Amino acid sequence: MKKLVVATRNSKKLIEIKRLLRGTGIRALSLDEFDNLPKVKEDGATFRANAKKKALEISRRIDLPVLADDSGLEVPALKNAPGINSARYAGPSQNDKRNIAKLLKSMHTLTGRKRRARFRCVIAISRGARVVGIAEGKVEGRISTQTEGDLGFGYDPVFVPYGFKKTFAEFSSRAKDRISHRGRALRESKKIIRRYFQRYP
Ligand code: IMP
Repeated sequence: MKKLVVATRNSKKLIEIKRLLRGTGIRALSLDEFDNLPKVKEDGATFRANAKKKALEISRRIDLPVLADDSGLEVPALKNAPGINSARYAGPSQNDKRNIAKLLKSMHTLTGRKRRARFRCVIAISRGARVVGIAEGKVEGRISTQTEGDLGFGYDPVFVPYGFKKTFAEFSSRAKDRISHRGRALRESKKIIRRYFQRYP
């Protein structure tokens, strides 16, 4: 079976990515299966720069294709914050509850269209010191005024995708995958990975 390393230490993200690669004949390996890997500093100015940096730094050390994603939430009324700082919005340690509390507080005076938001995901696929391809996905929606649901992760309990009346945390994983930023970027990535494995079996 062909192998692909998924460069994330976020177990929830890894589960989503593994689920989306099911049936492709590609086995997703997590970083925990390798020793002595550095912690990649996400200091790029964009999702794209961070995804590329993560993929390249890991693929320089592991002789397999590597997939890295960088994702986050953008609220136009907050100048696209939390953006690339989504994981650490409320402080250096990733804490979903505190991040959501900070977001709801920053938006408590905003109504209607000002509550618009989008999730974005950029996936970079690399091998050695070369980026093989980049895929992007986004999903538009709005931020609710209170949390609903307990599925998913991150800002899911306050994100209501456009055209729906419930938050991502009330979606089954399958339903979320169909419309989510990561689902979209991953479907695009699958094409890149398939093409890559056809050229380099
Ligand atoms: P990173 O890509 O690991 O830098 O972190 C992305 C952060 O964005 C996560 O920790 C979440 O806070 C948020 N995020 C990204 N994708 C999702 C999602 O599908 N649902 C909810 N929050 C997300």
